[in-house]
Order: sequence, then structure tokens, then C-alpha cells
Amino acid sequence: MKIIIKNEERGIKLIAAVYKGPGILDLEEVKTPEIESADDILIRVKCSVICGTDIKTFRRGHHAFIPPVILGHEFSGEVVAIGDDVKTCKIGDQVTVPPFINCGDCFYCQKGLFELCKNRTLLSNGSFAEYIKISQAYAEAGLVKLPADINLEEAALAEPLACVINAVEDCDLSLGDNVLVIGAGPMGLLNVLVSQLKGAGHVIVSEPVAERRKAAQQLGALAVDPTTQDLSSIVQETTKGKGVDILIIAIANTKVVESVLSLVRPGGKVMLFGGFPGSSTLTLDPNLIHYRQVALLGSSGFTTRQFKQAADLIMQRRINVGQLITHRFPLLEIKQAFDLAINHGGLKICIACA
Ligand SMILES: [Zn+2]
Ligand SMILES: [Zn+2]
Repeated sequence: MKIIIKNEERGIKLIAAVYKGPGILDLEEVKTPEIESADDILIRVKCSVICGTDIKTFRRGHHAFIPPVILGHEFSGEVVAIGDDVKTCKIGDQVTVPPFINCGDCFYCQKGLFELCKNRTLLSNGSFAEYIKISQAYAEAGLVKLPADINLEEAALAEPLACVINAVEDCDLSLGDNVLVIGAGPMGLLNVLVSQLKGAGHVIVSEPVAERRKAAQQLGALAVDPTTQDLSSIVQETTKGKGVDILIIAIANTKVVESVLSLVRPGGKVMLFGGFPGSSTLTLDPNLIHYRQVALLGSSGFTTRQFKQAADLIMQRRINVGQLITHRFPLLEIKQAFDLAINHGGLKICIACA
């Protein structure tokens, strides 16, 4: 076994942020994952970025994260130990890895709906920890090797970018399409960047928080404050009375969704990008779908193809995700970082794990 973790490091207490139920996140000492089989790969997490899903889980629980569990899934790091049979990567490689890979065999994978795979393989643990262990098969499917000069914080954003690529692909955005994004949180802003990269015409963003509107404006979007401006007339003016071709909802408030559905043109598409609390209901005029032929779409997750595509776009600097990173905290201060995220402070928050 090619273990390069130094002996003195083995004596160091390794910590991870363990989610123990809504509102409880404890820093705990954890066992270092070991190379136990010839195809194990041990990654030292360098940077793990807080995602809206981590915050949602922390606040109200999540069906996929049963406590106690280590949260975190947007990360990059360095391969520090490998089993003898590992060919995909070598010690010292900088990498990013998706939080799950699909089975390829189930009904949904066979249909090409990989995001709905019923048999996903998950990481050994979440990335708010110092180490993650994966297998050679996992690495073959999802691991992306990064160049030595990559910004590891940016590389950690391949995962949320992949989610957005999935959504924008589903919207079938054509050159010149006008897009309205509701919400300028990190995911709303990533939707702006991907829409622009795919050749959108006007990108309008509706966001009540001034700091986030400013961020949207800096990306080249037309930022609207729905509390003081008339979003509907701005959309009509910008689209010459037609309505937007694509409406992307990147917030979790169904009342707001109901209030903006009429802003999409006949034959246009509405993408419910963000998740909603379990008990949510949405009321809509069925004739929006029948006579106006508006398509109501949803999207969550991504395929490994999209994850690799996202990492490539970051590596090629085709998309500047670095501008969304506003704060950094060491793992020991993760609770303060969560507080900041809960209070909508900044955009993407990086946790330095090693
Ligand atoms: Zn995420
Ligand atoms: Zn599957």
C-alpha cells in the first residue's frame, strides 16, 4: 500500500463537522479512513464549499441525510494514498469528485435519466471532513484530475455548476433566448452565468437583497428589485411585450413562483430549479399549460457527464465561478460559516479542511 500520510500526522486528531439533527452541527474527532483494499483511494479534502442543501438539511432535515452524518459535497482535494491496483490517479494528484455516481443499470439509467438513478453510490462521508475515501470504480466514473495551477476553491464548484448545466440543458436554451431568473443566490447566479454562456439574449434577475442584485448586475444581468420595481413591466419592456422564453426559479417560495408564472411567453419554459419544503403546494392556472403551452419543468442533480463538463469549463476558464466565492473559514469555524450562510451573508462560502 502506498500510504504517504506521515506518522506524526496520524497522531493528529482528525475532525469532521457531524450533523446530528436540525440545528445541531458538532465538530467531532473521527477515525482517519484507511486504505483497506487494493482499489481504495484516499483524498485529503482541501476545500469544501457550503451548499444550499447543507443549510436546508441543517435547518429542517433532509430525507437523504439521516443524522448522525457528515455533510458537505462540493469539494476538491489531493490524493494522499492509493491501493496497489489503482490506475485512475496517483498520489499528489489534485482532484474533484462528484458526491454520487450512477449505477448505469437501473430503469432510469437505462432510459438516460441518470439524475433519477435509484442505485447511486455515495462518497464514504461528506466533505466537511479532512479525508474522503473512494474506490477505483468510483474514480473511473466521476473523478476529475485538475491541473497543478488550478484554484481548488473554484474547482470545488464543479458540483453546483453541473446541477445548473443540467437545468439549462433541460430548458433547451436557444441563442438569443430571453431568460428571467428568480433569486440571485449562488445558484441563481450560476444559472445566469450558464445561460449567458449558452447564448441567452437578455438575462433578467429578480432579487430583493441589494448585495445579491449587485452581484447579478456585475455578471451582466438586468437586476430588478421586486419590492420596489414593477418586474412585470420591466419584463414586458425588455422582451417587447412577448414575455421571457425561459423562467428559472431559484428560490423556494411558492407564492413568488405563482406571481411570476405569467411572465413567460406562450410556448416558453418554466424551470423549478430550487427544491421546496415538503409541505409546499403550488397553485397555477391550468390554461397556462393548456392554451399557452408553457412547459413546467423540474431539475435536480446532474449526470457524471455534466460534472466533468462543469469541471472542464472551470479549468478552461470559460466560466468564472470564482467571483461567487465571498467568504472563507477554517473547518474549526464551520458553525460561524453556517450562521453566515443562514443569514444570507455573501454567496459561496469555502471551508478550508486541510
Ligand atoms: Zn451542492
Ligand atoms: Zn441507475
